Amino acid sequence: MDSEKYEAIVVGAGTAGTLASLALAERGVKVLLIDSKTKDIIGKKVCGDALGTHHISNVGIPFPPKETYKGKFDSVRVYSPSKKYSVKVEGEGLALNRHAFGQWLLKLALDKGVELLDNTRAEILKFENSRAKELKVVEQKNGSTYYVSGRYFIDASGFYGILRRQVPETLGLEKEIALEDLSITYREIRRVKKSEDLGVAKIFLDEEIAPGGYWWYFPQDDTTVNVGVGVQGGKNVNPKKNFYKIIEENEELKSSEILEQGGGIVPTRRSIYTFVSGNVLFAGDAACTANPIHGGGIGPSMLSGKLCGEAVADALEDQEREEEKLWQVNKRYVNAYGAKAAGLDIFRIFLQSLTNDEIEFGMSKGLVTDEDITDIGYGKADFTVREKALIIIRGITRPTMLKHLAETAKYMKIVKQEYLKYPDYDKFTSWVEKIENIFQEYKQKFIEKS
Ligand SMILES: Cc1cc2nc3c(=O)[nH]c(=O)nc-3n(C[C@H](O)[C@H](O)[C@H](O)COP(=O)(O)OP(=O)(O)OC[C@H]3O[C@@H](n4cnc5c(N)ncnc54)[C@H](O)[C@@H]3O)c2cc1C
Repeated sequence: MDSEKYEAIVVGAGTAGTLASLALAERGVKVLLIDSKTKDIIGKKVCGDALGTHHISNVGIPFPPKETYKGKFDSVRVYSPSKKYSVKVEGEGLALNRHAFGQWLLKLALDKGVELLDNTRAEILKFENSRAKELKVVEQKNGSTYYVSGRYFIDASGFYGILRRQVPETLGLEKEIALEDLSITYREIRRVKKSEDLGVAKIFLDEEIAPGGYWWYFPQDDTTVNVGVGVQGGKNVNPKKNFYKIIEENEELKSSEILEQGGGIVPTRRSIYTFVSGNVLFAGDAACTANPIHGGGIGPSMLSGKLCGEAVADALEDQEREEEKLWQVNKRYVNAYGAKAAGLDIFRIFLQSLTNDEIEFGMSKGLVTDEDITDIGYGKADFTVREKALIIIRGITRPTMLKHLAETAKYMKIVKQEYLKYPDYDKFTSWVEKIENIFQEYKQKFIEKS
């Protein structure tokens, strides 16, 4: 057992991988961090670049230095399709300089002793008796290949999940992510004459431009904005084409200069049911940790990376109880974020079932208030109690929609409660069945019929 060169190998030096390797190195673990990018471009990523500051304190890293962000947000405003109605959520966020932020995270890890193998692609994971042993890597500068061996492996390779796809089939571990659970995105960073409403991150719901998703306008500083479109996978919509419809309609954006452009994919569903398979763990987009409603994935990817790193360090310290120590990552993540996200996944499915007309109607009648949105964010919205009162007070002419909203809140609560009873390993498959049944039941009752 002691012949492995590294105690832990982390694939991917994004926000998940840097936090995982940092957590490992802080516990004195010999860790190798691999990324296909060269060291100087690690951290560059097509993203909306918005990060709620609470995510930073949650993972216990210092507040990032000024050069890692361009500006701050104090709220997010969500608009109806006509833009006539909106709801606002207060909360501090950063408009990151994504590259600089990624470089800063990388430095935190390297300063703690993490060894970096950059410009190197991870390819094939070799197993012996169902245990991952070696990873075949390719040096990108010359195409040469070799193997690195490790006792534990963490897949932080982003949405594709290069290692997740190679672990042995396990009931309850999703290797492929359904197209409808992905958000297909296109975004540009542009220089404008003057950014609109600095400090407010704007989200626009519009099923014509962004079916099953939204488009955003995030001002970064006086003259820089991050604008993008995310559409639900499987809708056969090209987000770039729709992005240019937005540009065409906005004089300020039309005359602006493109600074960066690109497309990307982010999973927007509840996280995968387990972050562990044998001695391989999954973090960040590879484990579908982004928020199911808005796709904010930087915060939860850092958290899941840190928790995976800590679980591996715990297992190394107590090899006799390895399985139990690794499994802890699931319980810790569910308690910290996963249970809330699973509830939000129900709300995401509800939102994706609505037409523009229904969204407009709901927002015009104030069915969802600023407070509700904040509550939904915390995974604790409850429309049931207000259902009848709202019908009377607001003169709702479509009680079915309100009923649907109330039922959605009920299912969000049920799912969250089940997640908070996350099982030990031996009860895992029956728990997965239960969760799947709840989602199926919700979809059959309200989505597939509508
Ligand atoms: C357009 C868009 C907008 C978004 N906006 C926001 C936002 O405003 N706020 C927010 O919080 N989140 C946002 N997200 C989501 C967020 O960017 C991700 O959830 C987050 O970056 C996930 O981090 P990660 O470390 O898991 O993966 P990644 O950041 O994708 O990092 C994966 C790393 O693994 C490396 N890698 C991949 N495969 C291999 C391989 N085979 N071998 C070696 N290395 C490999 C990559 O080079 C990369 O460095 C957005 C996503 C997109 C696409």
